[in-house]
Amino acid sequence: MSQRIECSRRQCRWTGRESELSEVLDPKYAAEALTVYNRVCPKCGCESYYQLPEPIITERVEHANALIKVLSEHGRKFFEHKGALATLELDKNGKVWVIDECSKARVYTHYRGQWSGFNHGGTLRDLVCAMRDYITKGTLIPIGWIAPNRSNPENGDIWGYGKEAAAAVRAAAAQLPIITQGEQA
Ligand SMILES: [Zn+2]
Repeated sequence: MSQRIECSRRQCRWTGRESELSEVLDPKYAAEALTVYNRVCPKCGCESYYQLPEPIITERVEHANALIKVLSEHGRKFFEHKGALATLELDKNGKVWVIDECSKARVYTHYRGQWSGFNHGGTLRDLVCAMRDYITKGTLIPIGWIAPNRSNPENGDIWGYGKEAAAAVRAAAAQLPIITQGEQA
């Protein structure tokens, strides 16, 4: 697999593989009728990027990403964008990052301020933080966090998944190791 990279432009921070970079004609050589291509960030067109180490995927990271997959397969398909899913990963210092499925930015989940590049609101940010704590400490997530409906069961869930999809996503999530077992969905 080709080198993993991150766009150096702070507002972009696209994360991917060197092979995914776009090739654009370098206008500097147009006068000489030479076709010289530059490799640029496919999101912002920036020519400079950093090399990134491979993500560390532990069993708990896999469990967290399995929850993301379940959420993406139901209702409004949270954490899915044009076939891509958000992914969680660990770095060598034991810190958890989430790659946003929409911006492809690698977001530091231990940061208390605004998460630049994270395309979701507070509810899903809280859920990512819960997944982070599972990865770092093993803290299980209560099933009540998945498409919560307790405040108003008649109107469905606060995620807007709709009654049937909310029940289905809870049932699927309840099977996962990251979710507290023995509680009714
Ligand atoms: Zn970029």
